[in-house]
Amino acid sequence: MKVLVCGGAGFIGSNFVRIREAAGDEVTVLDKLTYAGRRENLEGTDAAGRFIHAGIEDADAVRDAMKDVEAVVNFAAETHVDRSIAEPDAFVTTHSYGTWVLLEAAREAGIRYVQVSTDEVYGSIEEGSFTETSPLAPSSPYSATKAGADLLVWSYFHTYGMEALICRGSNNYGPYQYPEKLIPLTILNALHGDKLPVYGDGKQVRNWIHAQDFARAIGTVLDHGVAGEVYNAGGPDECENIDVVRKVIELTGKDEGLIEYVTDRLGHDRRYSLSSDKVRALGWTPRHHFFEGGLENTVAWYVERKDWWEPIRSGDYREYYERQYGTK
Ligand code: NAD
Repeated sequence: MKVLVCGGAGFIGSNFVRIREAAGDEVTVLDKLTYAGRRENLEGTDAAGRFIHAGIEDADAVRDAMKDVEAVVNFAAETHVDRSIAEPDAFVTTHSYGTWVLLEAAREAGIRYVQVSTDEVYGSIEEGSFTETSPLAPSSPYSATKAGADLLVWSYFHTYGMEALICRGSNNYGPYQYPEKLIPLTILNALHGDKLPVYGDGKQVRNWIHAQDFARAIGTVLDHGVAGEVYNAGGPDECENIDVVRKVIELTGKDEGLIEYVTDRLGHDRRYSLSSDKVRALGWTPRHHFFEGGLENTVAWYVERKDWWEPIRSGDYREYYERQYGTK
């Protein structure tokens, strides 16, 4: 299949590109290269040679990019909740306006469209798991704008009969994740012997999915999903943030004295959980387990790939980190 991957230079998008190329797809990536997008993430892929540097809100570039493809998968997003609290503007532009531009172009081109979304659109749940029919109750500017994008996608199926689908994932971990997120931040700080910031009491519960598993779930939805449907893809392993941090400490041979509890994130959701029965019925099943190799292999990747993270950690990221956590 010839597929256009928007936001393919990011964490999950680049994992998706590798998996689809290995399966025989011809992939073109369109990416704005925000602070989180990096061409290096596409090292070794054919898509690196077909790269289009543009934002999804650029209608001409998007229309051009869709001329010779059979499907589009949209990963392009601002993805950090903390940044959405401090500066929501780009979240509104990319998720609302950008998604609309993509939908219009895909409708005009008559191609299949998969929107990559998040469990955060459902809000927090104390017990049990969200299904695809659970109401949307987003709590941050990040999740609210992602929910808005999902509704727009849905409207294009209902109104225009477009072949549009949505795949919502839980918290991802794995190689190529920008180090502002909990797991790479904790790994890199631990490797440097820096403090490990933990929000609030650290008892927020997340449903961890390996990025390669989420990427395969999105591929399953692209290949076999029914137009107009939503598919949840949750990780098999649930745990509290503090246990993630403790496990990283163990895997890096550090000391729990590095843990530093910091003021909780505003409006921090307590627990996310997704039921993945619907996408499993399409034949998907997760291959990675968080506590049985998944996290360990991720730590090993960051230990090995200093060349990948060192330029990030010493650049703009440092400024962000100091603003966010007030420390060096
Ligand atoms: P990321 O921040 O690593 O990558 C986002 C990519 O999108 C970057 O390459 C960036 O340059 C690009 N981008 C941003 N704005 C753009 C624009 N206007 N036009 C074109 N490109 C743009 O994010 P990620 O973690 O890989 O997330 C990818 C998708 O998966 C997002 O839609 C996110 O909401 C969703 N998701 C992420 C997680 C997670 O835990 N990371 C969980 C569930 C769903």
